[in-house]
Amino acid sequence: MKVLIVGGVAGGATTAARLRRVSEDSEIIIFEKGPYVSFANCGLPYHISGTIKEREQLLVTSIEDLRDLLNLDVRANQEVLSINRENKTVTVRDLLNQRDYSESYDKLLLSTGASPIVPPLPGVDHEGVFVLHNIPELDAITEWIETRQPKRAVVVGGGFIGLEVAENLVELGLKVDLVEMMDQVMAPVDYELAAEVHQHLELHGVNLHLGDGLKAIETGLNSPLQVNTSSGLELETDLVILSIGVRPNTKLAKDAGLEMEPRGHICVNDHMQTSDPDIYAVGDAVQVNACLTGKPTFLALAGPASKQARVAADNIAGREATFRGVIGTSVVKIFDLTVASTGLNSRQLKEAQIPFESVTGHDNNHASYYPGAAPIQLKLLFGSQGQIYGAQAVGTQGVEKRIDVIATAIHGNMTVYDLEELELSYAPPFGSSRDPVNVVGFMAANLLRGDMDVVQWDQVEQLDPDEWAVLDVRYPEELSVSAIPGAINIPLSQLRSRLDELPKGKRLAVICGTGKRSYFALRILRQKGFDAVNVSGGYKTLNFTHRNDNTMEQVENSPTAASAQAVQSTGTEYNLDACGLQCPGPILKLYKQVNEMNDGDVVTVTATDMGFAADVGAWAKSTGNSLLALDVSKGIVTAQLQKGLAQSMRTNSADSQPVPTPGKDLTMVVFSGDLDKAIAAFIIANGFASLGQKATLFFTFWGLNILRKPEPVKVKKNLIEKMFGWMMPRGADKLTLSQMNMMGAGTAMIKGIMKKYNVDSLPEMIKTAQENGVRILACQMSMDLMGIKHEELLDGVEIAGVATMAASATDSNTHYFI
Ligand code: FAD
Repeated sequence: MKVLIVGGVAGGATTAARLRRVSEDSEIIIFEKGPYVSFANCGLPYHISGTIKEREQLLVTSIEDLRDLLNLDVRANQEVLSINRENKTVTVRDLLNQRDYSESYDKLLLSTGASPIVPPLPGVDHEGVFVLHNIPELDAITEWIETRQPKRAVVVGGGFIGLEVAENLVELGLKVDLVEMMDQVMAPVDYELAAEVHQHLELHGVNLHLGDGLKAIETGLNSPLQVNTSSGLELETDLVILSIGVRPNTKLAKDAGLEMEPRGHICVNDHMQTSDPDIYAVGDAVQVNACLTGKPTFLALAGPASKQARVAADNIAGREATFRGVIGTSVVKIFDLTVASTGLNSRQLKEAQIPFESVTGHDNNHASYYPGAAPIQLKLLFGSQGQIYGAQAVGTQGVEKRIDVIATAIHGNMTVYDLEELELSYAPPFGSSRDPVNVVGFMAANLLRGDMDVVQWDQVEQLDPDEWAVLDVRYPEELSVSAIPGAINIPLSQLRSRLDELPKGKRLAVICGTGKRSYFALRILRQKGFDAVNVSGGYKTLNFTHRNDNTMEQVENSPTAASAQAVQSTGTEYNLDACGLQCPGPILKLYKQVNEMNDGDVVTVTATDMGFAADVGAWAKSTGNSLLALDVSKGIVTAQLQKGLAQSMRTNSADSQPVPTPGKDLTMVVFSGDLDKAIAAFIIANGFASLGQKATLFFTFWGLNILRKPEPVKVKKNLIEKMFGWMMPRGADKLTLSQMNMMGAGTAMIKGIMKKYNVDSLPEMIKTAQENGVRILACQMSMDLMGIKHEELLDGVEIAGVATMAASATDSNTHYFI
C-alpha cells in the first residue's frame, strides 16, 4: 500500500510513525512545504526569550532519523498543489527547484494544519510585523530582535500564543502592550478566572488594552512602528506580533471537492475519513465532534491532532479505530500562573442553551502547613443531575493536575457526586486529604442537594437592597483591605451569639474571603431559619473581577528598593513568611507583625497567594503604612512595607509644608455619615467662620457621603465601587440619624422640627459654610477605598491627603473628631 501524507508536523508525522508500526510494508511519503518536519511548534515562543536556549532543541526529529528509524520518505520544501481523486494522484511542487511532479496513492492523509490570521488592515505587511507559527517565522522574529534591539513590543491577541509571546518578550526585557478585542484574555476560561490573569499580567508589567482592536499599523514618529487601535490609542513600538487566531489550511481539500463545513474545516467521520473513503484528514484542518454537546466543532491543539493521527493510521492500515471527539482541554503558563480548562465554559453553555450551575473554590494545591502551598481558583460547571460540563483553574501550582482529573471524569461520564468521592493521592507536599477537586465536588453536591444556594460575582450588584442584606463574616482586620459598605460585619466565630443583629425579613447574601467561611455561616443561618445564599468565590473572586486600579497605580508608583534602603537604616528590619497562607492569612499575619513594630521599621513579607499582591497596596494605604516595593517572581509575592508614612513620601509629598506654629483655627475630621453628627459639624464650622476664624473640615470614610451630589453622576466604577455607591446614602439629604432613626421616622421628625424653627437644612448649612470660606477636604485615600470619584462630590470640595489635613491641624488649636 502506498500512503501519501500532506503536512509533516504534528498530525502528519504522528500518522506516519504510527502507520509504520502497524504496517511495515507500506510505502509512506511525507510532503512538507516548509523546510522542517516534526518540529515543536508549541515550543516556539520560548526560544524568543532563550528559555529554550538552542533553536535545534525545537527540531524534535530530523529527516534522516525519520528515514533511518521509520523507513519514511520525507520530502521537505515540497508543496502539494492539487489532488486528482479520480486518478488517485497528487501534484507536487518542489519549491527548491520550482519543478512540479505527480505522485500516486492508495490512501492519502491531509494534515495541513492552520495558518495565523492576518487581518486585511493597513500596515500589517510593514517591516517589523510578525506572526509566529513555524521555524522560519521564529527565525525572522529572533533576527529582528538581535539586529534591532527593540525596547517595546505590541502583541495583538490575548489567546494562548499571544500570551506566551508576551511573556517571553517581557522575559527578554521588552516593554509589552497587549491589545485584545474581547474584554478578557484567554477565551476558554470565564471572566473571573481571566481577571486573575489580567492582574498577574499587569504585575509583570504588561500593559493590557482590553476591549480594543487593531485598526492600522504605520511608521511611528519616534519609533519604527505605531499601532493604532479602534479606541484611538497610538502605541509607538519597535515590534508587532499578530496572534489573533488561526484559519484552517484547507484549500487543497476544498479544491478536490471534499465535503467541507461552513467555517472551512474538512468534514470527517469518527475514522478520520473524509467524504472520499481513500482520503483521511486530521489536526487543525478538520471538524470534529464536541463530546459534550454532540455538535460539530474544531480545536486547534496538538493533543487531539496526535490522537486523531493514531486513529487515522490504524484505519488506513485496516484496523478498526474511532475518534470519540473532543471536550477541549488546554493549559498555558503565563509568568508564574498556570491557566487550565476542560469542557465547556459559561459562554459556550449559554450558546448551546444548556442550563448549568457553577461553584468556585479557592483551595491550596497542597496542605497549607507544608512550605510553599499556593491557592488555586477552581471553577466547576455542572448540570442539575450532577453531570460535569467543564472546569477551569488558575494558580501557581498544581492547576493542571486538577483539570486533568476533571477532564478524565468528564471522559468517564462521572458526576459531581463522583468528584466528592474520588480517592486521590495525598501527602502534605502533594495535596490535601480533601483535594481541591473533592472540594468543588462537595460544593456542587451541596448546591444540588439544597444545602447551599449561591450568587455569582456578576449577580451581586443586581440584588435588590430592599430584599437583600449583605452579611460579611470576615475578621475586622480583613476589612481594612475591602470593607463592603452597608454590609453587616459579624465574624463567623461570633455569628451564633449575634444572630439577633441580623435584619428580619431580608434575605442574606453571605460573603467571606473565599466562600468557605460564608458557607459555614450559611449552614448556621439556614438552620436558624434565615434565608441565606453564599457569594461564590467570596471577596477574592470579586476582587479579581473588579481590580482596584488605584491599588495598581499605587503599587506602580511605590518607592523603589533604593528609597527603601534609605528608610531601612532608621528602623529595625523584619522578615515575615506568609507563604502557604491564603486570603486572609497573609494580611492578618502582616497586620499582627506591623502592630508589634515601631514607626519607621520595615518588614519584608513573602506570600504564595497571588491575591496578596493586589491586596497589600490597598491594605498599606488604608492603614497608613507605606508599601516600599512589590515583586512577583517564581510564584512568590515579596512586599516590603514600612510602618507609618515613609520618610521619602513625607518629604516628597506635594502636601508637605514647613511646620507652622499653632494658631486659633479649627480643624475637624468628619468620619461619621450620620445626619445629627453632620449637622453638628457644620454648625460648629459655620460658628468659627462667623468669628473670622479659619475652619477646615476633613471628610473621611462614611463622612464622605455628606459631600456626595444628590443626583447620580456617570462615572466609571468597578463592582466593589458600584456596591459602595449603591449601598451608601447619596448626599446630605439622604442621611439618617445615628440613633432613634426608627425606620426613617426619627430622621423625618428632626427635619420637620428644623424646618419649623427655621434652622437651615444640612444642604443649606454646607452651602453657607462654603460661602463663608470653610475649607472642605475629601480624603483621597477613603475615596479610593470606597470608590467615590471627584465628580460625585459637591462643587468646591477639595481632594486632599492626610498631609494637608495635618498641616492644617498644626495651624489650629481646636480639633474635633466627629
Ligand atoms: P501543523 O502541525 O501546523 O502542521 C501542518 C503542516 O502542514 C505545516 O508544517 C504546513 O507547512 C504543512 N502544509 C500545509 N499545506 C501543505 C501543502 N499543501 N503541502 C505540503 N505541506 C503543507 N497546541 C497544544 O496542544 N499545546 C500547546 O502548547 C501549543 N502551543 C502552540 C504554540 C504555537 C506557537 C503554535 C503555532 C501552535 C501551538 N499549538 C499548541 C497548536 C499545535 O501546534 C497544533 O494544534 C498542531 O500542530 C496541529 O497539527 P497539524 O498537523 O494539524 O498542523
